[in-house]
Amino acid sequence: MMNVDAIANLLLDWYAANARDLPWRRTRDPYAIWVSEVMLQQTQVATVIPYWERWMGRLPDVKSLAEASEQVILKLWEGLGYYRRARNLRLAARQIMQRSGGVFPSDLGGMLELPGVGRYTAGAVCSVAFDEPEPIVDGNVVRVLSRIEAVAGDPAEPSVNRQMWGWARQLVEAASVTGRAKACSHLNQALMELGATVCTPREPECTRCPLALECRAYRAGNPAGYPKARSTPRVTPRHFVVIVAEHEDLLCIRRRPDNAVNGGLWEFPNIEVNSPEADPSAIVRRLFGVRRVKPEPWCRVRHSITRYRITQHVHRVAFLGVRPATRAAGEWRTLEELRSLAFSAAHRRIVDRLGEANESAD
Ligand code: SF4
Repeated sequence: MMNVDAIANLLLDWYAANARDLPWRRTRDPYAIWVSEVMLQQTQVATVIPYWERWMGRLPDVKSLAEASEQVILKLWEGLGYYRRARNLRLAARQIMQRSGGVFPSDLGGMLELPGVGRYTAGAVCSVAFDEPEPIVDGNVVRVLSRIEAVAGDPAEPSVNRQMWGWARQLVEAASVTGRAKACSHLNQALMELGATVCTPREPECTRCPLALECRAYRAGNPAGYPKARSTPRVTPRHFVVIVAEHEDLLCIRRRPDNAVNGGLWEFPNIEVNSPEADPSAIVRRLFGVRRVKPEPWCRVRHSITRYRITQHVHRVAFLGVRPATRAAGEWRTLEELRSLAFSAAHRRIVDRLGEANESAD
């Protein structure tokens, strides 16, 4: 049985002495905290800081976000991945403008009505901005709680996950009656902070942990054995042929459909192929309707998305004379124009390489 009162007080004491000074911790503005929480999902703090500062400089409030174009928000988000999160932020801002003239909801129910806002984000904004006793459970919190209680089950199992939320609620409610300032906000942030900095996945630093005496996994001598490891899905290779088509000083690019992965972002025309040996001439024919063109192999760009190990086989082709009407639904832009558009990470690397190649050719 978890000693919630003792753990809540230990966490609050530890947080008072050890909280990192992060830019979004210097404000109680729910909008600023909401943006930081969405950015921090699946992303390290150090990566998020410059993104958050750029975003807040350009879109400092709900109104400016609601009025921003999709390309502006995608460009500000470029490189963070999971672009649906950025588009949902804008949709939610528009909803807040319509329903309450830009006043951010201050209760869990109101937040859960916003597009893209789930239980975690709503709980984080409620507790951090408004000091409400709402729990949050993310990967860091799961790790800490699994170890404190030496949970044998898989946290992805609904029953175990419910247990996590139950403990997180008990802890934040215990904090709320301590009479300490910003207790709910600090309790939730302490749990996440402890998971991020002390109770880390592989080598938890139990000897400097405030919860060591309360931790069953530590007492059992096996803290890194929790939470129970999930079986990792099989890695799957995927190959794409990418065509960098040039006509005079223009390059052909296209915008990804809104409902696709990386929707709204730009990319060079490409087709997924079964084999890395696929004939790029046939790809040019399919994309541009042009025959008897032999594209030059140029580079490979490798990246991973979830279990997929993706290789982009990039070829260059220069069209002389009449510019082909693109079946790939592409647009022709200068390299300079490409720099101001939002690309998916792999295609951004191709843009960067084109820039480097141009500079070394000058
Ligand atoms: S004692 Fe170790 S395993 Fe337990 S919560 Fe602290 S850091 Fe994590």
